[in-house]
Amino acid sequence: MNYFKIITELTSFCNFNCKYCYQDEIRKNLKLKFIDKEKYKNIISKLFSSKMIKSRCLLLTWRGEALLHPDFRELLAFVFQKDSESSDPSFVGINTNCFALDDKLSSKIVLDLQKKDESCVFEMVFSLDAFERNSFKLLKGCDERERVYENVKIFTKKLLKNDIRNTVLRYQYLINRESYSEAEQFYDFWKKWFENFGIIPSLYFDYQDKIDIPDSDDRFRIFFHRTDISDSTEKNYADDLHNQLRTKYDNSNDDSFSILEDEIQNRQSFCQEPFETVSVGIDGKVSLCCKDIYEELIIGNVFQDEIDDILMSEKAVEIRKNFQQGKACEKYELCRNCGK
Ligand code: SF4
Ligand code: SF4
Repeated sequence: MNYFKIITELTSFCNFNCKYCYQDEIRKNLKLKFIDKEKYKNIISKLFSSKMIKSRCLLLTWRGEALLHPDFRELLAFVFQKDSESSDPSFVGINTNCFALDDKLSSKIVLDLQKKDESCVFEMVFSLDAFERNSFKLLKGCDERERVYENVKIFTKKLLKNDIRNTVLRYQYLINRESYSEAEQFYDFWKKWFENFGIIPSLYFDYQDKIDIPDSDDRFRIFFHRTDISDSTEKNYADDLHNQLRTKYDNSNDDSFSILEDEIQNRQSFCQEPFETVSVGIDGKVSLCCKDIYEELIIGNVFQDEIDDILMSEKAVEIRKNFQQGKACEKYELCRNCGK
């Protein structure tokens, strides 16, 4: 199933300060910390009434930490409700730094997941990104490694206890120059921990383009993520490290590895982002790229217009044409510095 990716934002604020993130830039311009819940519901309603977007992959996280929103659960429940009313399939996901995912919140989210429609696949990405306490501190800009790892264990146990189906948990580790030496420790740590429950977690190296209902053995995914950095020397270096790790495990005979083939073989020569993604900010602005912090690829505002009109607006058509004609780097500074 091919999904159209929609990225929404409950907040653009985050309590962490990751080295690779543009939170510094966002904080400087932050006018609104959390979106008003009725406004968010309005965005979701509009997205679900779109005739152009059928199968949707809807993320509740863009530039900030969604779990900090005081009405997070109400908004998640609203998304699930809209999904259950829709005849088109949805994939719903969040990325979290796991700081707020304590025992209390974990129990409540697990309850919400029990109520969601069976056909809706939910994915939670735990952005752990580092392993040792010092590396975590350096990379994430805070000393919360113990709390974060503990929260992830708590949530996973609750999910297992309640036998929640169609939910994927992704334990993300970020591959870069500083973190590479601890990548295997990270994998061994989680593999050993899951042994307590008789589970062998899968290993992933890429986000997949296609999302299907996971079988129950493939719900727990250790994910070695490529660092998304604009500096080309660092990026090439990180890509090499990522490939080394992939090759190492790919050559292993361990059946536990479920490695998705790189989607790059089938990629077009230009970036597909503006053809398969929209990002909606807390101010309603719609962009064709989730990296668009300087608003170069804004195509409209969902508080003023319907989403289908925005997707077919003059600006949107012009941007997509520039990509098809290979002019993205010439036209947009964002793309020149992107490296995709
Ligand atoms: S946890 Fe995510 S949003 Fe927060 S600073 Fe790190 S990368 Fe940015
Ligand atoms: S910034 Fe990068 S990912 Fe975004 S549209 Fe440009 S090339 Fe694609």
